[in-house]
Parts: sequence; C-alpha cells; structure tokens
Amino acid sequence: MKLTGNLLIGANEVPASAGTMKALNPSTNQLIEPDFAFGGVVEVDMAVNLADEAFDQYSHTSLTERAAFLERIADNLDAVALPLAARAALETGLPEAQLQGEAAKAATQFRQFAEVVRKGRFLQLAIDPAQPDRQPRPRMDHRLQKIALGPVAIFGASNFPISYSVAGGDTASALAAGATVIVKAHNAHPGASEIQAKAIRKAVQDSGLPEGVFSMVRGGGNAIGEALVDHPLIKAVTFTGSEQGGMALYRRAQRRPEPIPVFTEMTSVNPTFILPRAMTARGAQIGDGFIERMLVNVGQACLKPAILIAIEGDGFDAMRAAMIKRVADAPARPMLTPGIHASYLNGLDQLQSAGARSVVEGSAAVADLDGQSALLEVDGERFLSEAALAHEVFGPAALLVKVTDQAQMLAVARALRGQLSAAMHLEEDDFELARRLLPILERRTGRIVVNAFAHPQEVSYATIHGGPFPASSDSRFTSVGMTSIERFLRPLSYQGFPDALLPEVLRDSNPFGVPRSVDGQ
Ligand code: NAP
Repeated sequence: MKLTGNLLIGANEVPASAGTMKALNPSTNQLIEPDFAFGGVVEVDMAVNLADEAFDQYSHTSLTERAAFLERIADNLDAVALPLAARAALETGLPEAQLQGEAAKAATQFRQFAEVVRKGRFLQLAIDPAQPDRQPRPRMDHRLQKIALGPVAIFGASNFPISYSVAGGDTASALAAGATVIVKAHNAHPGASEIQAKAIRKAVQDSGLPEGVFSMVRGGGNAIGEALVDHPLIKAVTFTGSEQGGMALYRRAQRRPEPIPVFTEMTSVNPTFILPRAMTARGAQIGDGFIERMLVNVGQACLKPAILIAIEGDGFDAMRAAMIKRVADAPARPMLTPGIHASYLNGLDQLQSAGARSVVEGSAAVADLDGQSALLEVDGERFLSEAALAHEVFGPAALLVKVTDQAQMLAVARALRGQLSAAMHLEEDDFELARRLLPILERRTGRIVVNAFAHPQEVSYATIHGGPFPASSDSRFTSVGMTSIERFLRPLSYQGFPDALLPEVLRDSNPFGVPRSVDGQ
C-alpha cells in the first residue's frame, strides 16, 4: 500500500508546511520511508473550517444513513487490515498478529456503533405532550433529543495504534454521535495512521457525505495540538496519553474565551488486592496471572495491573516466587518510542528513589529501545509515606506492596489516586474484608473486577474505561464502550413545535421506531 505522507484534510492531500518526519522502527531504532508531512495553524484552520461546514448536513443524516456510513468504514478497515497491521508492526514493534486483532476490533467498534445509531436510544428522546386544559396554566408541548456538540478534535493514542488511534473508539463514537472529526495523528505510527484515515475518507466519499466530516492532521511539537484545542469552532476534545499532556490541553481549553469539554484518559496503576483466603488457596496462580497481564503490550497498556497489594502470610511466598519466575523469564521487547523508553527508565529510578527495592529483572535488553521487565517491592508503611510510589510507570514493571494486616491494606487502598480499574481476588471467606474494601474502591475507580484482571477487549454497553482523576478528567464519562458516545452529545429541547418542523425522530409518526419516553413513562 503506497503511503503519500500528506495530511488528509477533507478530500485534499495537503503537503508539508512545517517540515517532515520519518517513522521509527523501534525494533531496530532505524527510520522508515517515506517522509510524513507536518502542518501547523493554517492546516488546522482548513480542517476545522471544513468540519464546521460539514456539520449541519452530517449531524442531520438519518439514523439509517449514518449507520450505513459507519459500516462502510468498518468494511474499508477490513479491506486494509493486513497491510495496516504490517505497517503498524513496523512502526510500533508490537506483534503483527496482535495488530491484526486490533484492526478487527476497530472494524467491530464501527459496526457496534452503527447498531447504537440504528437503535437510536443514545438520542434519549423524551416527549411531554401539550396539556392545553391544565390548571392553573396550560402546558406547551416539549420534546427533547440529544444532538452532537459540533466539530471535535481527537488526539490519537500511541499505545494501541489502531483501536485507540485514528480509527479507534473515539472517532467511531464521535462520528456515531453526529460530530465531525479532526484527528491529530500520533507521530509514533504515521503510516498506520494514514492507512486508517484513508479508509475513513473513502467511506465519506462513497457515502456522498461532505468532505469535512473527517480530516487528519499531524505536526511536530505542541503547536498543532494547541491550535486544535484553541480553535473557536472546535467544541470538544478527546485525549489518551500522559497526565502532563492531558492536563496541559485540559487547562488550555478552560482558558479559551469559550471553554469546552476535554475528555482525557491519562494514568492508572490498576491496583490488585489479594485477600487472605484467596492468597492461601491460589496465591501462586494469582501472582503468575498478574505478571502475565502486566507484560501485555510491553506494559504499555492503560489497564496494566501495576501494583499488587497483599498481606504477608499463608501463600504470600508462593505468590511472590511465581511473580519472580514470570518476570525473570520475560524477554525484553521494544517499547513504542524513544520518549516512552526514556520515561520508563526514569520512572523505575523514581520508584527506587522513593524506597522501592528491586526484586528481579527480566532478560537484558538487546536492542536500544528494549524495555527490560522489572519487579519491585515495598512494605505498606513506606508506600503510605511516599506518594511517588503510587504513580504509574508506563512499561513492563510491577510493584508488590506487602502489608502487615487488613487495616494496612485498607489504608493503602485509601491512599490511591483515581483509577480506571481495581481488582480483588477473593474466596467466600474473604467477603467480610471485601465489603470493607469495596466502598473505598468504589470512590476511586471506574471498574472493579473480581477474581480476574481488567481486560481491554470488552467493548460493550456496560464497559467503563474511565474513572476519577487522574484516570480521566471527567469521571462521568467513559472513553470506551457504547456509552462513550455521550461525551459528544448535549440535550436540546423543542417547545411548541409544529410536527413538520421537528427532527424526524421526534415527530408523532416516529419513522425509525426509536423508543421515547412520554411524560416520563
Ligand atoms: P503524550 O506525550 O501525552 O502525547 C499524546 C499526544 O498528545 C501526542 O499526540 C502529543 O503530541 C500530544 N500532546 C501532548 N502534550 C501536549 C501539549 N502540551 N500540547 C499539545 N499537544 C500535546 O503521550 P504519549 O506520547 O503517548 O506517551 C508518553 C507517556 O504517556 C507515556 O510514557 C505514558 O506515561 C503516558 N501514556 C499513558 C497511557 C495510558 O493509557 N495510561 C497511554 C499512552 C501514554 P506530540 O507527540 O507531538 O508531543
């Protein structure tokens, strides 16, 4: 598949105005052809103006039309899945088979959102019919639907180069909502980004939609992202990445003359608690499973279980030995970018400076960007006195926190910041402790898992991939799953409208048969 390296702004291939870059193969630390264009404020302005022009038509597409468009994107992604996975593997060092799975997942997400659109429940239609005879005063007819916010900016993530990137869940849910989209492609995988963007652009053209429905820009440095967040026609932003980057963009958006929502998904250590009976019954198995999940994607996953909290006692040594073995056996694998590799090494240093002791390391790095796995440990008292120990180290490292008793386990839980997920491993005899732990975790996480680890594969109606700060900037929303569409919607009420002027879904005939509440029933 030929890559042009251009920015894709509506139907236009726009060449570089602010320099170029080449992708890096992290397995070899060598640059790969071709050159990829960087744009700046001018290109952002072009893309956002096109998105704004396209918005009225696109946001008024019928549910059937919009669902068919999303399915076209899915079909186009399927058609390029193999070259897309091959290019993504070159640019990320991740296994090609895993990336084929990601491509399939991305296509599936578009199909799932097509289904969400067809069902129409996301519109949350409500009708309060007129009551002309009501006393002491008559009531006018009120009808409510959710509408899209407007053009939105999406920052592609680095760590899942397809399913959280240009054709990831953010784009799928925003397009499903009726928003027009400008993606800021992540420079860690520019070729994979171009292939995805072209699959979406082709669907825009084949569906007869205005070109501004979708654009992809790219830039070197912060200027391009800042220009997107600052643009007055942008009405919401999504971001997956570092706490520092996410908060810089969040604060920037709040300083605009017109502040806008910024939905960031940033950092989480996904704490795992092993309760005493479970430890006795199957400590080794849990310890092994914990490290197995920790190592997925070379530890570069938002749901990576990074901290394990366990009470010293029966089963503890077997669990620790199983963790040590799994880490020691782990080969070093390339990390996504030189920056992520450097910040992994720095993060390990910081854990050790804060008092964590190194227990074991995996096989030594062979290539420059290889991440060597690491297990560190610390006792509960030290953990409670050093906030730095509760911070995420993005990469293949885990911290074992050895607590003295149940009270200290609960204190460690209370010391944690907001999380995407937390897990409890327990047996029936642990329920009493679980009942005390649960309210602490409920206040701090978006998902609580029992006798398993949080899994990123599930994309469904009950999926929550969000949580209290700093896991996300707004714990009321999720960035994955069918309800992630809600980030791009706002309620609009129509009062006293003649039927013919109402949106189709709110007319008396209800042509799409979307469920509606009438007088709250
Ligand atoms: P990042 O540095 O936060 O960058 C993410 C995206 O935002 C990139 O496109 C970046 O552009 C842009 N950006 C960041 N700060 C910006 C600013 N101040 N103004 C404008 N644009 C800005 O994240 P990353 O590159 O993916 O990885 C770095 C670190 O992020 C990792 O080491 C890890 O700690 C964290 N991370 C966490 C998760 C998670 O799910 N928990 C996922 C991915 C990454 P440029 O690339 O041009 O700078």
